[in-house]
Amino acid sequence: MMKPQYKRVLLKLSGEALAGDKGFGLDTDTINDIAKQIKYILNLGVEVAIVVGGGNFWRGRTGEGMDRTTADYMGMLATVINGLALQDALENIDISTRVQTAIEMRQIAEPYIRRKSVRHLEKNRVVIFAAGTGNPYFSTDTTAALRAAEIEAEVILLAKKVDAVYDKDPNISEDAKKFDQLTYLDVLKLGLKVMDSTATSLCMDNKIPIKVFGLDNPENISKIILGEDIGTYIYSEKNENKKEDN
Ligand code: UDP
Repeated sequence: MMKPQYKRVLLKLSGEALAGDKGFGLDTDTINDIAKQIKYILNLGVEVAIVVGGGNFWRGRTGEGMDRTTADYMGMLATVINGLALQDALENIDISTRVQTAIEMRQIAEPYIRRKSVRHLEKNRVVIFAAGTGNPYFSTDTTAALRAAEIEAEVILLAKKVDAVYDKDPNISEDAKKFDQLTYLDVLKLGLKVMDSTATSLCMDNKIPIKVFGLDNPENISKIILGEDIGTYIYSEKNENKKEDN
């Protein structure tokens, strides 16, 4: 059997990733497929923490004319809906889970307590971090960087709608160039829309590698865990043994 490359990972699932082709709300088949892949990597002995986004329901910037902090709190609540949906799908296939929220809502989830989340991971429970960082003006990408640093995840698996990082939108430009690897500084300097700059800087300062990949095929999660070279790898230094870009 192939060996997993990581012991503890943080999977960032954007809200869009849970909406499937609908682009809005939740797509049950998509969520079930993702849940199956998570079960697969758990069975390989990988500890899995997940940060969920909320963009399939609401983003702070959607609330034009609204008070920004209120709109952001609405976005954080949207991530809780997604967290519960994912928990339900995972528990349906007998995976033990805990949802922890950065804003207390004790009737439906545990409050975020770092030491507890690490304990859950050690017991092979999937920990789902919801409600972002609990603070307006941040994103769930920043939450992923923060939680990854806190729980000492070896890598952030950043699931996207596209299969890798490109210099322009590959859905619009046919000549878009795909990157196999990038440094954090490349991402910042080139203004690539991988993560927002706060999240990228946090990863850079704490040397947390990021693997960007497409969730069009949920099996990509296990491919990455098993060391297959897909998507884009972002770290502080490029690996000279690897071919640069396509
Ligand atoms: N949000 C926030 N603070 C956080 C995380 C999220 O205010 O720490 C709000 C913000 O308004 C954001 C929304 O929650 O637009 C949904 O999160 P995000 O846009 O990151 O979701 P994704 O794009 O990953 O689906």
